[in-house]
Amino acid sequence: MGQIGKVAVIGGGAAGFFLAVNLKEMVPALEVTIFERSSRLLAKVEVSGGGRCNCTNTFDDVCDLSQVYPRGHRLLKRLFNVFDHRDAFEWFERHGVPLTVEDDHCVFPQAQDSHAVIDCFLSLARRYHINICTHVKVQSLDDLRGYDFVAVTTGGSPTGDGLRWLAETGHDVAAPVPSLFSLAVSDSRLHALQGLVHDAVVHIPTTKFRAEGPLLITHWGMSGPAVLKLSSHAARHLADNGYRQPLSVNWVGCSEADVQTMLSEAARRQSQKLLTTWNPFGLQQRLWAYLVEKAANPQSRWCDLNKKDVNRLTNTLTNDTYQTAGRAPFKDEFVTCGGIALSSVNPSTLESRHVANLYFAGEVLDIDGITGGFNFQAAWTTAYTVARSIAARITTA
Ligand SMILES: Cc1cc2nc3c(=O)[nH]c(=O)nc-3n(C[C@H](O)[C@H](O)[C@H](O)COP(=O)(O)OP(=O)(O)OC[C@H]3O[C@@H](n4cnc5c(N)ncnc54)[C@H](O)[C@@H]3O)c2cc1C
Repeated sequence: MGQIGKVAVIGGGAAGFFLAVNLKEMVPALEVTIFERSSRLLAKVEVSGGGRCNCTNTFDDVCDLSQVYPRGHRLLKRLFNVFDHRDAFEWFERHGVPLTVEDDHCVFPQAQDSHAVIDCFLSLARRYHINICTHVKVQSLDDLRGYDFVAVTTGGSPTGDGLRWLAETGHDVAAPVPSLFSLAVSDSRLHALQGLVHDAVVHIPTTKFRAEGPLLITHWGMSGPAVLKLSSHAARHLADNGYRQPLSVNWVGCSEADVQTMLSEAARRQSQKLLTTWNPFGLQQRLWAYLVEKAANPQSRWCDLNKKDVNRLTNTLTNDTYQTAGRAPFKDEFVTCGGIALSSVNPSTLESRHVANLYFAGEVLDIDGITGGFNFQAAWTTAYTVARSIAARITTA
């Protein structure tokens, strides 16, 4: 090792920049070089959060990390002791990116523009003399002879191509599959509701996979936070089943028993009204009309409902089951489930258990979260951990 040391960071994305910048703040005399295969640095940061960059979350609604990190929650719980969302918030504000918290606990730059984050990273990289080499695709550690430490921050690899060379050096790889996607449903009556957003509970029958939140109906199926969350928790299950699974929707968020009581009550109180015109659940009218038509004669009055009708309507409202017909036709997957297995890294330092002085941070690891700023938080936390680990090695050498 040279007098101070040389560090190669492979990947000029969120984790790579955060790692490089923090490392230079911890050990300014280090020589740090970022290698980026493309011409575009921080490309995902730029498009993230609809161009606004949902850079973290307050975690106010999170009582169990497994709710928001289907993979990696145990490791993150440990690493949040090193650097968590409060640290990230404070870090960005201290580095000239004021943040704002939205009602749903998502955190964005006050500028409402991802360039606030990009400009911050690029100007710090310039100030700290971090070398940046674009158009360099690193695929072997032999390419990096002369570096004392190497940090891999190459991001998710949905096809697994970007993980092959790492598997060849002994690392276990959790097979990559997409996460955070919408689902296609072939049902023209449903498609007619396109654009409708409604709070619902979605569930894959006979599994534990269940999510709630806004459900968006599109002209090809279902999307919105509820479906994205479900796709994250069930990413591997859905992949294993070719994305063709039954999908149950509870449109009212109540139990069958409660719905039956409410329907019987409506039949008593509003007996002369048409089913389609009296809607006891406050659903949007076109959704209510669609659901009633699926279960009963829409021309019926409430007093015409017999027990069978009530059961059918109850079932449609609480367990409306569709067959998914694959992922959405657009490639809108946001993150990869899978990557370098966490068993292949030291959980305190994120150093490889197979190759000395090699570290991992960001989405290349088998860590991923639901939408809401959780994926960037994982990138900041793991990148900071690696920076701290390398800095500790250098300063104690
Ligand atoms: C459309 C979209 C919107 C998103 N919005 C949000 C959001 O608002 N909030 C949130 O928390 N998350 C969001 N995410 C997820 C988030 O962007 C990622 O989790 C995050 O970027 C991961 O950071 P990373 O540095 O690990 O990987 P990346 O940002 O993917 O960076 C990896 C970099 O490494 C480079 N690279 C790969 N292989 C090599 C190689 N062999 N040699 C050299 N360079 C290489 C890549 O070109 C890339 O630049 C979004 C993702 C997408 C796709």
